[in-house]
Amino acid sequence: MNPVFEDHGDIENIVVVLTDITENHFLETLQRDALEAISSDLSLREIMDFICRRIENNGLDVMPAIFTVDNSSKLKCVGRASLPLSLVELFDSLEIGPDVGSSGVAAYTGKSITSPDIEIDPKWLTLRSAAMRNGIRAAWATPIVLRGGRVAGVFTLYFRTKRQPQSWCQKAVSASLHLCTLALERYEAKEHIAKLSHFDTLTGLPNRMWLRQHLDKMLRRPTRGNFMLLSLGLDNFKNINDVFGHAAGDDLISYIATQLRDAIGIDDTIVRSGGDQFTIITSGIQQHASSLSDMVLRLLSQPMQVGDVSVTFSASIGISVYPENGEAGETLLKHAETAMFQAKAHGGANYCFFSPKMNQQATDRLILAAALRDAIAHDRLRLVYQPQVHARTGKMYGVEALSRWNDPTLGFISPARFIAVAEETGQIEAIGKWSMRAACRQMAEWIRDGIDVPTVSVNLSPLHFRDEKLPEFVAEVLEETGIPPARLMVEITESTMIDNYDRTIKAAQALRELGVGMSMDDFGTGFSSLSNLAGLPVNEVKIDRSFMNGLETVDKVRSVVTAVIRIGQSLGMTVVAEGVEHEEQRQILVNMDCDVLQGYMFSKPLASDDLITWLAGYTPKEIAPA
Ligand code: C2E
Ligand code: MG
Ligand code: MG
Repeated sequence: MNPVFEDHGDIENIVVVLTDITENHFLETLQRDALEAISSDLSLREIMDFICRRIENNGLDVMPAIFTVDNSSKLKCVGRASLPLSLVELFDSLEIGPDVGSSGVAAYTGKSITSPDIEIDPKWLTLRSAAMRNGIRAAWATPIVLRGGRVAGVFTLYFRTKRQPQSWCQKAVSASLHLCTLALERYEAKEHIAKLSHFDTLTGLPNRMWLRQHLDKMLRRPTRGNFMLLSLGLDNFKNINDVFGHAAGDDLISYIATQLRDAIGIDDTIVRSGGDQFTIITSGIQQHASSLSDMVLRLLSQPMQVGDVSVTFSASIGISVYPENGEAGETLLKHAETAMFQAKAHGGANYCFFSPKMNQQATDRLILAAALRDAIAHDRLRLVYQPQVHARTGKMYGVEALSRWNDPTLGFISPARFIAVAEETGQIEAIGKWSMRAACRQMAEWIRDGIDVPTVSVNLSPLHFRDEKLPEFVAEVLEETGIPPARLMVEITESTMIDNYDRTIKAAQALRELGVGMSMDDFGTGFSSLSNLAGLPVNEVKIDRSFMNGLETVDKVRSVVTAVIRIGQSLGMTVVAEGVEHEEQRQILVNMDCDVLQGYMFSKPLASDDLITWLAGYTPKEIAPA
């Protein structure tokens, strides 16, 4: 402002100069607000719509639109204000090319395209009538070029009248282009990160993280229906990696992923939820989950090639049902996996529905397994010894070593429970080695102290017989403790023999060759027949204690026990009856000519010190067959 003075010095006029800063102010605020939008958590569409709306609302008679170009060179409208939807739908998924309207050509050539009169512009030939119908007469499209030079999109202004873009439009576009580039780059980076964190690179399937979010989304939907989760774990996949290497393992996983993806229904979803684990989301009734599982198991049992070798697979599937087995995604997932492990525990190659009872058992087992690990590490297991005596004379025959676990927090846990847990959790190896060593050391001590215990029997789990080094280990312990091999007896159950016939026989034979005794425990509870007994390298057979119940009353039990004794003896084996509790049972067994008896009638299993006391007070009582 400048005052103009009259001659007397009074102000006569004021000269005011005004500059229109609307444009600059607008561009500055656009820039500032758009940057804020980009750095916020708004979606690409929200940011792009925002830019378009700001430009359109600035009083210019334009309709902006922002398109991206996807991998298959198609346009996709990601931002607009009042551009009619019917037109957007028409432009969307147009393949870019030399004659597909201003935007398509700009994206195709990477150059700015002006169409001052659509009515006569050849580039608009195919789209002209739609444009005219929607009141569009001119357009100006500018490519959005990312840093690497790639055309990632187009920024287009549509006009309602025939014309060239004015300078103000050009300013608005050049300011916006810069913002669009930023927004797109940021969006692509975000997408890439999301893809990396939500998709498995090996199979291209969504991963566990994605699964969790997807389940949450599904469960938030007001119209959620019932659905089921199938958790699929490949059985023994570790062996493939061990034998053929991880590269072959990876190839197989991606092959299996493709097979599974092709096999499931179009509405089903498959996710790689772990290394050798997949999860399928499916809907429908429970019966559908069963038939889907059957189909998948059949599919996987087809031979597959690993290099030159053909391998077959099996899988275990666990199923959880929404909403019966849980309301939250995480719970359903956990339950499906629990059921899958249950299926594995049943030998694999099958499927299993989740039930709350099963879950409780699983938790119990986990707690028990952890406590057991601790007990083994702190040497808290103990051996007790149960006397075995000659049936007729009552003289000492030997003792059976039995493990005991008295946990400081969980209390006394029976071996029937913890041995099963140890077998499932791989701790049985440690228990077996420990008990073998402890029993042999004890025997060495008894020998040294002149205590009359002719033999000690140690129970071994079937799993030990899979270890080829078992005979070697036993030989080592014998040497270490210096006890004669004949004073050691190894008990195995008859199921061990059947499970792994050849390998077990080999290991048992090797033990026999060392001079160690082999005893078939719990005879009569499994499936082996009497005739099988002949082929086994055992020199002792123990009649299971369940036979003692009916011994006095049931004829059939009596005839079975008699047969076992006869056949066992005819094969040169010593026959031991377990669980003998009364005098009557002893008399019957003596009448049958059974060799050895073990049971509460003589003594419960005893700690070593108590055994010595018991032995000191024990007078063998001879009885004759009646
Ligand atoms: P088992 O080898 O058949 O052992 C005999 C079981 O019968 C023992 O139970 C013993 O306490 C019980 N028993 C002995 N006499 C009588 C009787 O007169 N009446 C009754 N009702 N029971 C009697 P325990 O000690 O509970 O062991 C159960 C099973 O746990 C054993 O059966 C054996 O299979 C397994 N086990 C125990 N210790 C070990 C171990 O160190 N390693 C392995 N692998 N298994 C073990
Ligand atoms: Mg036993
Ligand atoms: Mg037994």
